[in-house]
Amino acid sequence: MACGNCVPVCPMGAIYIDPVKHRATVNEDECVECYTCVRGLSVEHLYPPLVRAIRSLGKVFRFRFDPEPDVCPTEAITPQELTWPRVVRRAFSDPIVPHESTGIMGRGTEEVKTNELTGRIGPGEAGLTIEFGRPGIGTRFWEIQEVTRALTQLEVAFEKDNPVTALMTDPGKGDINPEILNEKVLSAIVEVKAVQEMVPRALEVVEEVGRRLSTVISVGVGVRCEPDGSSSIEHILRDHGYEFHRGKTNLGLGRRMQAAASTAMQAEVPGVRDASGGRQ
Ligand code: SF4
Repeated sequence: MACGNCVPVCPMGAIYIDPVKHRATVNEDECVECYTCVRGLSVEHLYPPLVRAIRSLGKVFRFRFDPEPDVCPTEAITPQELTWPRVVRRAFSDPIVPHESTGIMGRGTEEVKTNELTGRIGPGEAGLTIEFGRPGIGTRFWEIQEVTRALTQLEVAFEKDNPVTALMTDPGKGDINPEILNEKVLSAIVEVKAVQEMVPRALEVVEEVGRRLSTVISVGVGVRCEPDGSSSIEHILRDHGYEFHRGKTNLGLGRRMQAAASTAMQAEVPGVRDASGGRQ
């Protein structure tokens, strides 16, 4: 009925009021299947022709019938059945849909946030978390492929437990399945691992390629803390002209690290009891 309530709900600006049809219309090419429009409005079940007639009549008498701003009065937005390759859009854009490859919702990766359990990043290594499309821009897989291909010039390894890696046909070349290259998603994360000395060059490569793309790229660098709590990547980044900001620190509260810490403490402090009460 062209009330326009759904237009501001869409993070991609894919919903518009068609000036000819006078109906809300979804630009299917720009839609990333995030389902925000499906879940973001409460619905009423008014009969569309009747509402349109009332609105047309109202115009004659210069009064407007508009629903509450958070309501779709005619339950006009209905999900469509998604098939390959479009289903990839939803997997990367709808935060409540788990990825098939990793079983994780959202962007489909725990990144290094659970490194004490996964051990993805070891001593002397750095993990680069290269995020495309956020906030509010979106990205297509061909743009991601530009970066993944360029990164293969360096000695980096793509994280196996990552949904973008799972969609690669040749990780050695950074090639992504050609069937999905034009699919647009809200955001996606590429993860690579390298020795810490390689990080400045990898950042340069991402920046060089990123300048040619119309999406937005954010890069995080994850390393293990040194025993004194400092970060070994700090001076490497500063030496190459990057500002250093410590974003997040994983305190290592997961079980495996605790077990390791407990063992280490027991080794250092004879007589300390472990968690089960046993004596070292
Ligand atoms: S599914 Fe998401 S991107 Fe597509 S029209 Fe709805 S809100 Fe916009």
